[in-house]
Amino acid sequence: MTTANLGRTIVLSLAGNRAVSNLVSRYGFKLGARRFVAGDSLADAIAAAGELNRAGIAVTLDHLGELVAEPEEAVNAATEGVAVLDAIAQSGVDSNLSLKLTQLGLDIDPELCWRNLRRVVSRAAELHNFVRIDMEDSSRVPATIEIFKRLRAEYSNVGLVLQSYLYRSEADQRELAALKANLRVVKGAYREPKEVAYPGKADVDANYLRLVKAHLRAGNYTAVATHDEKLIGEAIRFAEEARIPLDRFEFQMLFGIRKGLQRSLAERGFKVRVYVPYGRQWYPYFMRRLAERPANILFVLRNLLRA
Ligand SMILES: Cc1cc2nc3c(=O)[nH]c(=O)nc-3n(C[C@H](O)[C@H](O)[C@H](O)COP(=O)(O)OP(=O)(O)OC[C@H]3O[C@@H](n4cnc5c(N)ncnc54)[C@H](O)[C@@H]3O)c2cc1C
Repeated sequence: MTTANLGRTIVLSLAGNRAVSNLVSRYGFKLGARRFVAGDSLADAIAAAGELNRAGIAVTLDHLGELVAEPEEAVNAATEGVAVLDAIAQSGVDSNLSLKLTQLGLDIDPELCWRNLRRVVSRAAELHNFVRIDMEDSSRVPATIEIFKRLRAEYSNVGLVLQSYLYRSEADQRELAALKANLRVVKGAYREPKEVAYPGKADVDANYLRLVKAHLRAGNYTAVATHDEKLIGEAIRFAEEARIPLDRFEFQMLFGIRKGLQRSLAERGFKVRVYVPYGRQWYPYFMRRLAERPANILFVLRNLLRA
C-alpha cells in the first residue's frame, strides 16, 4: 500500500469513529472545515452561490446529511431539499441541487426514499430546475441506480453520478446511456475493497476517461467532476476532436478546491459548476476531503496549533 493510500484508509476509518466525530464536530470549523463548507445555514449557501455566479460559475447546492436512521429525519431532509429549490428560485442564483439517497431514507426503506426523492424532483420540475443524486459507497450503488431509473421514467430533470474506481461503472454507463441519463463522472470518495474497486490511481484515471468519452460519444450530457488538470485537459482535447458541442458538458469542482482552475476554465468559455455544501452535518464530508489529500491533514494540524 502506498503512503497516500494508507493515509486515505486511516482518515476514512476515522470518519466512522464516534469519539473522533464528536471532537472534530466541536472544533471542526476552527480546524478548517470552513474551507470546504459554505456555512451552517441556507442563507450562507445562497450567499456563496451568488459570489461564484458573479465570477461566471454555476453552482449545485448540497444540504449536508447522510445515513439518516429515523423516517422523520428523512422526511425533514426532503423538506429542506424543497426549501433549497425555493430559495434558489427566490434569490435568482444559478444553481441546482445535489442530494444523497441515504439522507432521504434509503437505508430505512427504499419506498420512503423514493417518495421523498419524488417530492423534491417534482418541485424542481415545477421550478424548471434539476436534481443530481450523489453516489455513495458501493453497497448503495444498486439501490441508487434502481431508484434513479424509476424516477427517470417520469422526470427528465434528474441526474446521477458514476464513480470511475468501481469496476461495475463501465457497464452501468452503457445501461444509463440508453436512458439518456445526465451523468456526473467522479473518481470516487469512499473506502472500497479491491474486489469492487481499482486500487491503483492509474487504473481509476484511465477508467475515468473511458467513462467520460463513452458518455459524450453517445450524445449524453456529462459533468466532468474532477480537480485533476491532466484529465480535464484530456477531456477538452477529446471534446474538440469529437466535435462535442460546449453545451453537452460541464466541469464540476468542489467548493474551496482549485479555485484558480475553476475561474480559468470559466474564463475560457467552459461551463463550470461548483458543488457548495452547507449545514451542520459536515463531519463525514470534511473527512472525505481530508482523505483525498494528505496535505489537508497538515493544514488541519496547523490550525490546531494556532487555535
Ligand atoms: C462536483 C463533485 C461532486 C462529487 N460527487 C461525488 C459523489 O457523488 N460520490 C463520490 O464518491 N465522490 C464524489 N466526488 C468526489 C470525487 O469522487 C473525488 O474524491 C474528488 O473529486 C477528488 O478526486 P479528483 O478527481 O479531484 O482527483 P485527485 O487525483 O484526487 O486530485 C487531483 C488534484 O486535485 C486537487 N485535490 C483533489 N482533492 C482535493 C482536496 N480534498 N483538497 C485539496 N485539493 C484537492 C489536488 O490538487 C490533486 O492533486 C465529487 C467531486 C466533485 C468535484
